[in-house]
Amino acid sequence: MTLDNTRLRIAIQKSGRLSTECQKLLKGCGVKLNIREQRLIAHAENMPIDLLLVRDDDIPGLVMDGVVDLGVVGENVLEETLMERRATNEPADYSELKRLDFGGCRLSLAVADDFDYQGPQSLEGKRIATSYPWLLKRFMDNQGVKFKSVMLNGSVEVAPRAGVADAICDLVSTGATLEANGLVEADVIFRSKAVLIQSGTALPAGKQQIVDKLLPRIQGLQQARESKYIMLHAPKDKLEDVIDLLPGAERPTIMQLAGDTNQVAIHMVSSEDMFWETMEGLKALGASSILVLPIEKMME
Ligand code: ATP
Ligand code: MG
Repeated sequence: MTLDNTRLRIAIQKSGRLSTECQKLLKGCGVKLNIREQRLIAHAENMPIDLLLVRDDDIPGLVMDGVVDLGVVGENVLEETLMERRATNEPADYSELKRLDFGGCRLSLAVADDFDYQGPQSLEGKRIATSYPWLLKRFMDNQGVKFKSVMLNGSVEVAPRAGVADAICDLVSTGATLEANGLVEADVIFRSKAVLIQSGTALPAGKQQIVDKLLPRIQGLQQARESKYIMLHAPKDKLEDVIDLLPGAERPTIMQLAGDTNQVAIHMVSSEDMFWETMEGLKALGASSILVLPIEKMME
């Protein structure tokens, strides 16, 4: 299958921690995808967009080399690739379009639970296993600590037990993997989320138009996820107190209730979640029928 150069090319991870969220994001933007197993390319049915399904490590390079127009990748992989490419004089131009609200993790130093860790200087002269040698080196250089890097592309967490390294520098989200391997997180060296990046060269007008369409939609999805639609009934004489309790209620809508002159309905979009405590407080003021609804999409 060949690639049509007039269609916007987006590289996403084929399978792994970012792939489901990436596909959900595109679907949320109205892109109809027909992804088939074992295929490198997927064509959108309703927009001139082609997806490249690849390993996440390849995504920054594909964008920086201009093979694809956009890519979604973790900042950890992006930053690592960037440092490596700059050091080797390879093309490293790109622009960041949006930091996304998924793929959160941190790159951390971890040591065996019986290691006496007093700060990065405790690792002076030690062997550290990692898949992120450049990010690790930058951190240790800043700390003025010399170490030996042991490059591993997987199973980094078993390195200390296997006697291959004294410490590791690996991605952590919950810390369960570290714990299962008798390791403890010692220092966070980089915090990461998924980002949408674009190639450094200007896009032809047709492709740029699609990007201009996608970006506000991504923004709308992200904003919707952070917002709630809140509805409730409140006694008229407690209206002020009720509104004071509502999170981020600047201008709620107040509506009459049919056949009830003592109460009104309040509707509002809140950029914050509503806690049980707030709902209980509202109830104590005489409010009732309190509903907190998720919002699917929004455009301001
Ligand atoms: P690939 O086969 O595509 O190279 P991978 O094994 O390198 O996959 P994944 O483990 O799927 O990659 O992680 C992809 C990205 O997800 C990471 O680079 C990181 O940005 C993000 N991520 C979020 N949470 C975690 C976590 N707990 N561990 C590892 N990566 C995480
Ligand atoms: Mg990878």
